[in-house]
Amino acid sequence: MNWKDVINFASKGNPTPNRRVEKSEAEWKALLSPDVFQITRLKGTERAHSSELCNLFSPGIYSCACCETELFDSSEKFQSGTGWPSFTDPIKLNAVAYHADNSHGMQRVEALCNTCDAHLGHVFPDGPAPSGLRFCINALSLKKKLT
Ligand code: FE
Repeated sequence: MNWKDVINFASKGNPTPNRRVEKSEAEWKALLSPDVFQITRLKGTERAHSSELCNLFSPGIYSCACCETELFDSSEKFQSGTGWPSFTDPIKLNAVAYHADNSHGMQRVEALCNTCDAHLGHVFPDGPAPSGLRFCINALSLKKKLT
């Protein structure tokens, strides 16, 4: 996918996910650690360079920390130098949802888990070819599993 696809999804609606996981804020709070709850359910941002996951490039699949839906493959991960795990494409077109985010005086596109609406991070149009996308993702939103 490319930046035009991201803008289309954010403005016209996201692709239909394979399944939906819906829970109340209280249910999520009971299930998740406080830091994962803060990032994924309250749209927090972890400190840059706070996770070893930024510099981890071994093979594996990155799943949602809330619902375990597969979101990114290690083959799409790249070294962005930003201090957050960065990917250039989602594992599947309908894995991630895109919302316009005009908070904090910036126009950005928020990336969410399309299955459970967990906040993941943001997408920017300055990533490597061929997609040109940079998914800037909180490590706390992800769980890595070996393939
Ligand atoms: Fe999820």
